[in-house]
Amino acid sequence: MITYDPITLAMPLSKVIGEFILENGRLPEGDELKGIMRRFGIEESCLDRGMMVYRTKFLVILVFRGRENVVIDIIPSTGELSDALEVIAYKDKKLGAVVVEIVPANDLEYEGNIGIEPIIIDERTLELESNPVLGHFEEDENGISLVIDRKTYERWKSRGDVQTCPICGGELAWEGEKAYCWDCGYGLRVKG
Ligand SMILES: [Zn+2]
Repeated sequence: MITYDPITLAMPLSKVIGEFILENGRLPEGDELKGIMRRFGIEESCLDRGMMVYRTKFLVILVFRGRENVVIDIIPSTGELSDALEVIAYKDKKLGAVVVEIVPANDLEYEGNIGIEPIIIDERTLELESNPVLGHFEEDENGISLVIDRKTYERWKSRGDVQTCPICGGELAWEGEKAYCWDCGYGLRVKG
């Protein structure tokens, strides 16, 4: 797995937080968030009350655990703020659900949701109520691709539009179980 740009961390991170909520029926606490970051090979460089700061070669990451939400800001270490993303997880009282979404700092260029749809989990039944398309990123000789598991692909295919790029909202060109997006330049692969 690679985490170069904010998107390459934001998508797998949202997926893992969603899986945590599906399993535990609640948002992760501070220590659990630390454990999640460690799964990505990222160690904190500074701790303050309610806030954790992480640094990698390419990214600066701020993690806040609020009373009823988790906010994770992912900023390129170059300071290129237009690429910055925010992962937010919160309880939506009106929906009776826990929601995880990826919000671009610069949403002028973007039409739609990163990951097609936010993660929406019914708080009572702990069932996934939306159709998010999330995965992790891998690099090979063809470039960098979003890799999604078969379960996600089958759900996406049966309930959504597989022509839409989950990264940028552009149009995907499929060849078998591989796709390429001419708009954002990422590939997409189905694994498993
Ligand atoms: Zn795209």
